[in-house]
Amino acid sequence: KVYVLRIGHRPDRDKRITTHVGLVARAFGAHGFVLSPCDEKVLEKLRDVEERWGRLLEEIACTNSPLKYVKTWDGTVVHLTMYGLPVDSVIDEIRQKDKILVIVGAEKVPREYYELAHYNVAIGNQPHSEVAALAIFLDRLYGGAELYRQPVGGKLRIIPTEKGKKVVKVGEEGPSGGAPGVRAERGRGGRGEGVQG
Ligand code: SAM
Repeated sequence: KVYVLRIGHRPDRDKRITTHVGLVARAFGAHGFVLSPCDEKVLEKLRDVEERWGRLLEEIACTNSPLKYVKTWDGTVVHLTMYGLPVDSVIDEIRQKDKILVIVGAEKVPREYYELAHYNVAIGNQPHSEVAALAIFLDRLYGGAELYRQPVGGKLRIIPTEKGKKVVKVGEEGPSGGAPGVRAERGRGGRGEGVQG
C-alpha cells in the first residue's frame, strides 16, 4: 500500500495545489491521501472526483498531528525533497516495501521529517513542485503501470479517442476499458470504428 501525506498545507493559499497533489496521488497509484492540517474543502473536492470518476483511493483523510502520523506509520517512510538521494538510486529498494508513506511538503519542511524518513528522495536536485515530484516518484515506483489502474464504481468513464471527448456512463464502456495497446472507438464515427487489438 502507498499513502501520500501532504504536510504544511496553507488553507488560505494552497487549496488548488494541494488538490492537485491529491489528484496526482489518486491518478498515479496511491491507495490513500492524508492532508495536514485538515481542510475540508480540499477533501470534499477529492471525494467529488472519486464519486464521479470512480474509486481509486481507499482512504481520504486528514490529521492535525502530522509528526505523530509519521511516527506511528507502520511501514516505510519516504520524504520527497530536492536535498535527498537521486530517485533512481533508491527506487528499486523502495519498491520491495509493503507499506510506503510518501511525504510531500509545502514551503519549508521541518528537520524532524528528514530524520524520521527512511528515505529522503530527490527527483533531481533542483527545486520544483510537490505535484511534479509526486507524479514522477509514483511513476518510477510503478514503472508506468499505474496509469491503467481501473477505478471501482463511479458514474463516468472516458473512452480514449484520437480527437474530441468521449465519455460514457459506467457499465456502457465496452470491453477494452482503455487498457494499453487497446484502442476503443474513435470519435465522430470516423475510420476504424470499433475496438482494435
Ligand atoms: N525549499 C523547499 C524544501 O524545503 O524542500 C522546497 C519546497 S517545494 C515548493 C514543496 C515540496 O515539493 C517539497 O517539500 C518537496 O516535497 C517537493 N519537491 C520540490 N522539489 C523537489 C525535488 N527536486 N525533489 C523532490 N521533491 C521536491
